[in-house]
Amino acid sequence: MTEETITAKEYKLDVESELRFEIETKDCKVSVELKLGSAELFGTELVKGKAYEFHTGAKVAIFTYRGCTLEVRGETDVIYISRETPMIQYLNCHAALEQMREKAEEEDTLGPIALIVGPTDVGKSTLCKIFLNYAARMNRRPLYCDIDVGQGTLSVPGMIASILVERPASLTEGFSQSAPLVYHHGHRSPSENSALYKMIIKKMAEVAITSRESNKGLKTSGIIINTCGWVKGAGYKSLLHAAEEFQVDVIFVLDQERLYNELLRDVPSKVKVVLLPKSGGVVERSKTQRGEARDGRIREYFYGGRSPLYPFSFDVKWADMRLYKIGAPALPASCLPIGMKPEDHLTKLVPVAPSPAILHHLISISFAESLEDDVLCTNIMGFICVTGVDPERQVVTVLSPQPRPLPPNNILLLSDIQFMDSH
Ligand code: ATP
Repeated sequence: MTEETITAKEYKLDVESELRFEIETKDCKVSVELKLGSAELFGTELVKGKAYEFHTGAKVAIFTYRGCTLEVRGETDVIYISRETPMIQYLNCHAALEQMREKAEEEDTLGPIALIVGPTDVGKSTLCKIFLNYAARMNRRPLYCDIDVGQGTLSVPGMIASILVERPASLTEGFSQSAPLVYHHGHRSPSENSALYKMIIKKMAEVAITSRESNKGLKTSGIIINTCGWVKGAGYKSLLHAAEEFQVDVIFVLDQERLYNELLRDVPSKVKVVLLPKSGGVVERSKTQRGEARDGRIREYFYGGRSPLYPFSFDVKWADMRLYKIGAPALPASCLPIGMKPEDHLTKLVPVAPSPAILHHLISISFAESLEDDVLCTNIMGFICVTGVDPERQVVTVLSPQPRPLPPNNILLLSDIQFMDSH
């Protein structure tokens, strides 16, 4: 279809309503233009007269406080207007956070530290985005910490990461991500190494809090923390641990009364716990869709999103790779050296000899250059992906955002996450 033959349809939205649509069909794009009034996408304002493009996989809700007219071009799989949205409740929560920021300014204390929790697919990442965008629109500079290793919205899956949000997210590219602080976990779920997960959360919390102390503007803007949807058993304990390490002031619980009541019971009374409804627009994702979203994040890391990137592919000699994985096989308690606990093996660095077993695996390049450094708590410089292994020549072929060679001394950490490079 040529641009001219793509049908355009106008949608008139009343006050406090939203236009929701999904694009599922492969290689499809839809453009949306704000014709009249004002509207926003998860907290980022649309500019009148500008066409925004959305592609396959997009699940979008364009909300208006005062009413607007939108023009949509292209085929969507689902499209409807909803008047039932929790946006006013979300706005009220933002206003409460803003009051806490004002109080922090007056008293020269740290701004609000908020943890967003809830089961999978309730809109946790979306709510974080709304809070961060609203804060940025008020000239705040909040820190965004994403401790959901499953999706990795700021880095790649298997990592936890944080960024300073200085301006609202771009509608098509998300938050600007220069220099995120990234720690390696290496698994899709914290449960696969909870000792390591706890350790990196503690480190991220420490860095987040101390980095805020020195700058008043940053200090009072606060921190928004996104979590994973693992809310039962050990998952619940890891939420309590994160709340404690980050010294959170408020926990927003999306859509689960049980979790809300458990938190009310278990967190100190000075922490406010707020139950919020999920938006009816949030779409549940199947296991396959989650897998595709993970692949999409990694593809974007190497190949870019709307602005393309051109990664490099080159060979690395096995002998030149200082490759480790985190976590050794457990020893029976009777074989442990004195003073060592059985869970200590989970945070041990184990050398890995390159072999065909590492094919398609993601590898993190640590800033650590020596085993004397605290490798587990040192941040990550970037990632490579193993796209070929040649045992005869003893080389691996890697996909890398940087041209050869790899930094010579840096320690490489093997991740469980795999990516099939189909380019
Ligand atoms: P996870 O379990 O992976 O952590 P989550 O709880 O963080 O998921 P989100 O990622 O925020 O959930 O939302 C899931 C999907 O629903 C996203 O694609 C998002 O764009 C979409 N979505 C969120 N809110 C709405 C809405 N009001 N209308 C339509 N789609 C929405």
